[in-house]
Amino acid sequence: MVKRSAVTILALDDEPFMLKLLARMLTNMGFTSVTLCDNGHTALDQIDDVNVRPNLILLDLNMPGMDGIEFVRHLVERHYSGSLILISGEDERMLQAAEKLVQAHRIQVLGHLRKPVKPEVLSALLEKWTPPALDNLPVTKKVYGADEVYAAIGSGQLVNYYQPKVAVATAAVVGVETLVRWRHPVDGIILPDQFIGVAEAHGLINDLTRTVLTSALTQAKAWQEAGLALRVAVNISMDNLMSLDFVDFVTELATKAGVPPQGVVLEVTESRLMQDTRAPLEILTRLRLKRFHLSIDDFGTGHSSLAQLRDIPFDELKIDQGFVHRAWNDETLRAMYDASLALARQLGMEVVAEGVEDRNDWDLLQRTGCDLAQGSFISIPMPAAEFPIWLKGWQERARTEFASPDVLS
Ligand code: C2E
Ligand code: CA
Ligand code: CA
Repeated sequence: MVKRSAVTILALDDEPFMLKLLARMLTNMGFTSVTLCDNGHTALDQIDDVNVRPNLILLDLNMPGMDGIEFVRHLVERHYSGSLILISGEDERMLQAAEKLVQAHRIQVLGHLRKPVKPEVLSALLEKWTPPALDNLPVTKKVYGADEVYAAIGSGQLVNYYQPKVAVATAAVVGVETLVRWRHPVDGIILPDQFIGVAEAHGLINDLTRTVLTSALTQAKAWQEAGLALRVAVNISMDNLMSLDFVDFVTELATKAGVPPQGVVLEVTESRLMQDTRAPLEILTRLRLKRFHLSIDDFGTGHSSLAQLRDIPFDELKIDQGFVHRAWNDETLRAMYDASLALARQLGMEVVAEGVEDRNDWDLLQRTGCDLAQGSFISIPMPAAEFPIWLKGWQERARTEFASPDVLS
């Protein structure tokens, strides 16, 4: 049994009475480190502070403003590695569905409590708490300063990795997604999650995107000349879509590299897309008119507004990996996957499933008629130099495993 005073608990509920009640119950059970929050924003501040980050959160699902489900999304973004107990006055079925949804995000749920909360039920759930397994511990990620990121962009330390997108029906490789890495002289290869946010917050994202896009286009041209018709996708930050210069900036770079707009895909994340309105809408529409391909990224994770999805002429919809891997075996994931696929079909968009990690995932895509697949089952992101060798291997696999002769259209 874990020492109860060692468990740091955060209780989040909009009702002050409920918070007091929970606090009293927890204290009576010997849990002494308890923080109370009556709204999601204050709670997130606690999560962001490594010194007070809780191991366990008691989460009310029904709150005005940020509700429990939205709060969970913020936890996912923060790679929260602690556990959750869900609380709600809703019926059992609702609570079970919510529990599944949270588990789909790979956050540990000890269970759920129906209001009115009974101390013995709470106590039984708390018994299940264990410290996070070592490999679940949050990797203490170094936070880089804006000056370091600025220097990295200027000194050529950013390198592009590429991850293939393949047609599910034929196994043909139709494109790649560019994923930036920072080759840090001391810390090694740094993933984008550790510096994109810094670049966005400090006005460096236009420089970063320019650097990434320039090398991606040079690479696209090189592949084109080697006889590989690969559409090259680049991730675009919402902050890139704030100034109208962006259209010219992309057009000029593509022209200079000699890559046609049809060969370039711009992936935009939906969650951020929906916060702002006019400038991004105009920029995306103009890029589309110039025949660049537009892709809506991480579909299903954001505050999707279907109206805006219709307003912006996207060519491609990427179903978030959280709804793809294991969807063949999980009703909740499967429902999200099916709904995204159907929606994209209705809007005439090409569909990419991300996070295809094994043969079961691949088979589901094939059965359901998904257009493109991306994920570690096919390949993890790689430097351009490794692409030709990977391609040979993939063609061989496609011939033997999928019995398809037409692997590179
Ligand atoms: P994203 O656009 O959703 O990219 C997909 C992420 O999933 C990549 O992480 C990729 O390595 C990872 N991934 C690929 N296959 C699998 C799989 O089968 N299973 C799992 N679990 N994961 C898989 P990465 O490279 O760390 O990129 C993280 C995010 O950083 C990207 O998410 C994208 O939003 C952002 N990003 C990357 N490059 C750029 C860039 O040049 N500019 C901007 N603004 N954002 C970028
Ligand atoms: Ca992407
Ligand atoms: Ca994505």
